[in-house]
Amino acid sequence: MKQYDLLVIGTGPAGHHGAIQAAKLGKNVAIAEMKSCVGGACINTGTIPSKTLREAVLHLSGFKQRGLYNISYESSHKISMDELLQRVDQVIRTEIGVFNNQFRRNGVDILTGRASFVDPHVLRIEGLDGDTITCHAEYILIASGTRPAHSDSIPFDGVNVFDTDAMLNLASLPKLLTIVGGGVIGVEYACMAAALGAQVTMVERRPRILDFVDDQIVEALSYHMRSQGVTFRLGEEVDEVKITADGKVCAKLKSKKQIWSDALLYAVGRQGNTDSLNLSAAGLEADNRGRIQVNETFQTAVPHIYAAGDVVGFPSLASVSMEQGRLAACHAFHNPAVSTPELFPYGIYAIPEISFVGKTEAQLTEADVPYEIGVAHYREIARGQIIGDTTGLLKLLFHRETRRLLGVHIIGEGATELIHIGQAVLAFEGAVDFFVNTVFNYPTLAECYKVAAFAGLNRLNYSGEL
Ligand SMILES: Cc1cc2nc3c(=O)[nH]c(=O)nc-3n(C[C@H](O)[C@H](O)[C@H](O)COP(=O)(O)OP(=O)(O)OC[C@H]3O[C@@H](n4cnc5c(N)ncnc54)[C@H](O)[C@@H]3O)c2cc1C
Repeated sequence: MKQYDLLVIGTGPAGHHGAIQAAKLGKNVAIAEMKSCVGGACINTGTIPSKTLREAVLHLSGFKQRGLYNISYESSHKISMDELLQRVDQVIRTEIGVFNNQFRRNGVDILTGRASFVDPHVLRIEGLDGDTITCHAEYILIASGTRPAHSDSIPFDGVNVFDTDAMLNLASLPKLLTIVGGGVIGVEYACMAAALGAQVTMVERRPRILDFVDDQIVEALSYHMRSQGVTFRLGEEVDEVKITADGKVCAKLKSKKQIWSDALLYAVGRQGNTDSLNLSAAGLEADNRGRIQVNETFQTAVPHIYAAGDVVGFPSLASVSMEQGRLAACHAFHNPAVSTPELFPYGIYAIPEISFVGKTEAQLTEADVPYEIGVAHYREIARGQIIGDTTGLLKLLFHRETRRLLGVHIIGEGATELIHIGQAVLAFEGAVDFFVNTVFNYPTLAECYKVAAFAGLNRLNYSGEL
């Protein structure tokens, strides 16, 4: 039987970073992967395909030109799904190559096959060709990720009714699309489909989309999405979905409304990939959504078995999964590692994109923190005019008395890059004055920080002795 210091299950961001970190600490590491290629949902079906698709959509649809010329700008080019997916394939292949290279360079053994527990230290790996090997490991990291959740009331056929994985196999672009689920993934695909000219109806059980995002930012996004032809059915639930003989889809809502479309994308939640791990042989169990409980160092109830990434639940981001995998490996091999979850940024690649770090207004209000806001609109910034994004905005939240920065919320082009300036200032516990006293390149969107800081500090001038 092969012996390893660490055996990782899954080659997505959590497994990848966990394995490489342990190898860098001089450990003997193997990583099991049940699919024929490495990278997990991140590279093969989730983050990388959806972000590549978004970029291709923005370029090919002429969407970026609409702000520069006028809203009616239409690309004369007829976009096919094939064309969009060619670019996606190219990026996926390159990224898989990068992962494989990193595993090889760091001496990590890739064991292709489905891993399951034999006992708390032994895993069986059933190869794709039917061959089985067993390995013993001192430590195990479960980074098996998630898959789209399905519901019995939804007749998935992969053509008219599909989940986000099957979205990448579509032969053509639907003209009328219903999206069930107003979370990050549903919103991102709704924006892409709308940019391609589809009429989208989004059904969300909760009264608003993206319920963890700042209200003002969600309002701005909702406005944009509506202006792109997205209809929201909020606070509504799908009761039943039917596909007609001629391939039309009818979503019947509990409120008795009917939504007819060419296709329906079901994007409601994800299910942990734990059902085939034989967790009970390791003394572990998962909850009803397939998630494994861990402590702050990512140890499960069995201390030498760690779990990280989407399989442990919120926030289910590639960025966070990487960090969790790294922290798990550092903890197992007694390597000190510092992490600051309160400074993790969130990126939502809607159109326009959204990013935030730190607290929201709702959280500060709930905690009775006296805060002030400073907002800069892209239209006030030269770079905003140059790139034709005149609707973006950046909002700073800071403490009224100490002037310490508490949160940054951005919607608009470059939001997911721009956020890191605010993240750094938050990390160093800086005050809003930093932005006033700093010279930014001109003309850049980073200037928004300065304008927002001035606007926020101006609001303090309206106060006096009480
Ligand atoms: C459409 C979409 C868009 C997204 N966009 C973003 C984004 O913009 N930014 C962001 O940060 N995050 C994004 N995410 C989330 C991100 O993809 C996940 O957070 C990330 O992939 C989770 O990484 P992971 O390592 O936990 O699991 P995964 O990436 O799911 O990898 C798990 C791996 O484990 C393997 N596995 C499972 N069971 C076994 C077994 N028994 N034996 C062997 N191998 C096994 C699987 O085959 C898979 O390869 C997106 C997700 C989706 C679906």
